[in-house]
Amino acid sequence: MAPSVSPTIAARRDQMFPVLADADIERMRRFGVRRAYAAGDHIVTAGTVSPGVILILSGKVDITQAGGIGRPEPIITYGPGNFVGELAQLSNRPSLVNAEANGPVEAIVIPSQRLRDLMVQEANLGERVMRALILRRVGLLESGASGPVVIGPRGNGDVLRLESFLRRSGLPHRALDSDTDPCAKTLIERFHVDPHHLPIVLCPNGKLMHNPGETELARCTGLLRPIDAEKVYDVAIVGAGPAGLAAAVYAASEGLSTIVLDCRAFGGQAGASARIENYLGFPTGITGMALMARAPITRRRNSASRW
Ligand SMILES: Cc1cc2nc3c(=O)[nH]c(=O)nc-3n(C[C@H](O)[C@H](O)[C@H](O)COP(=O)(O)OP(=O)(O)OC[C@H]3O[C@@H](n4cnc5c(N)ncnc54)[C@H](O)[C@@H]3O)c2cc1C
Repeated sequence: MAPSVSPTIAARRDQMFPVLADADIERMRRFGVRRAYAAGDHIVTAGTVSPGVILILSGKVDITQAGGIGRPEPIITYGPGNFVGELAQLSNRPSLVNAEANGPVEAIVIPSQRLRDLMVQEANLGERVMRALILRRVGLLESGASGPVVIGPRGNGDVLRLESFLRRSGLPHRALDSDTDPCAKTLIERFHVDPHHLPIVLCPNGKLMHNPGETELARCTGLLRPIDAEKVYDVAIVGAGPAGLAAAVYAASEGLSTIVLDCRAFGGQAGASARIENYLGFPTGITGMALMARAPITRRRNSASRW
């Protein structure tokens, strides 16, 4: 399979994969802990929660994406001054890519809570790190070679339902047409799936689901996690449309621990808009999904609370 290079990687490579200067590395040190990896160590495995953002001091780390099919596809090899991570590491969600030590590696591991501290306390550096994390997620969305794989007939109602949910949730994924795609046919045979029971979804953690509901799919992909019954929040907001997300960002900015709940996906009606042209600060317009996807990131940056 030919590696899929996203347009974003091609156009904004330097911002996606910055090499931090020695002075920046020194400023990042206090947010993490030093770790050493041996050659071949699986530093991060797709489908499992990564220890955080990993700043490389020496050595090389290979980044690959799987998509659940065939051999892992290379994305990039990082060296000293690069850091491993994308948006998932901002909120402790399962990784979408693999990271493997290509020889001995010395690194600083910055867990998600400390990463949010870095964003606030080192504004300029934090902005560059945040831009890289966002662009990497955009690159994964464009390449369509990581995240869950939906397999079923093109145009099938349940395939469209599952794809729509993943798209609205900002999660990279791919859909394979079971009628025409050779990879889809191989997977259906390998897992002995009755064609009448399509679609199936193969999650990055290897779990196979038969025509799951959105809640089941959200659990499998780490979008939905158990709520700590012992934790008391200052504010609970029901509905993650523009109104709910704006309220959450402002509450979190004021230091309130905030939880936002939605019965579908974040973005509300605005997430379905092809182009919003009357929003402050976007004179040329912006898609509803692009606008709404920025809100949860703003909130995570400003608050210690969980999404
Ligand atoms: C296609 C389209 C294009 C649009 N374009 C524009 C535009 O260009 N400019 C503009 O200004 N406006 C536009 N709008 C309107 C704009 O999107 C809405 O005004 C805005 O989304 C309203 O925000 P809201 O947060 O109040 O409610 P909503 O966006 O409706 O969000 C409510 C959220 O609450 C959740 N929810 C509901 N009930 C429950 C429950 N019981 N438990 C948990 N969660 C629940 C829903 O799932 C939803 O996510 C457009 C709307 C659509 C549909």
